[in-house]
Amino acid sequence: MFIEQSNVKCSICGGNSFGRHRVLWPELIAQWNLAAHEVDYIDRQQGEKCTSCDASLRHIALGNAFRTAVSEGRTIRQIAAAKIDLDILDVNGAEVISDTLSELPNYVRGDYPELDLQNLPYSDNSFDVILHSDTLEHVPNPLQALSQCLRVLRPGGWLCFTIPIVVERATRSRAGEQKSYHGNPAMGNDDYVVHTEFGADAWTYLARAGFTQIGIEVVSFPAAHALMGRKDII
Ligand SMILES: [Zn+2]
Repeated sequence: MFIEQSNVKCSICGGNSFGRHRVLWPELIAQWNLAAHEVDYIDRQQGEKCTSCDASLRHIALGNAFRTAVSEGRTIRQIAAAKIDLDILDVNGAEVISDTLSELPNYVRGDYPELDLQNLPYSDNSFDVILHSDTLEHVPNPLQALSQCLRVLRPGGWLCFTIPIVVERATRSRAGEQKSYHGNPAMGNDDYVVHTEFGADAWTYLARAGFTQIGIEVVSFPAAHALMGRKDII
């Protein structure tokens, strides 16, 4: 049983009032073999939102990771208003965070799968920060995708991302299993097939891809965290 913290402050707008609704559906819960308390914290991760700016807990975790990456204590809105000069690649977007960061002068947005995370069309050492949000679980080879992120980051740059993590078990590949989708499976769109169900060892993927400094931003354990990996500064 986990103790959940609830004194969350929104990294995007600074708000501290939250509403909640259910996100998971019965078929996905069965496919993922989720226990009731796991359903509860994953619903919180995706369905508990800031009443001021609509950021979910996972968006807030990603926002905190971004603030750490750029050594900022200000909110994402304040950082965007300050027009800081950083090359940012945002893959897939994270709703209110992306809407806000897109105000920055050197913001680049790419959407998976049109933008192939396993073969990024950018030169080595191009970005100061890369963000992706609940995308890596949909990529067939997550290690290859992380290696590509490392390649296009500048030395000392950070990758910040969220993935659904079932914290009490190890990562498992869904290769050879019944297809499981995020989003609406009736769409029949394989872009949203889940290839990897990440577990407690999710951070090791960063190490295996070559990141030399690894962090986890915790907003509410076990409901909301973001992973961070830094490219060696030397
Ligand atoms: Zn907010």
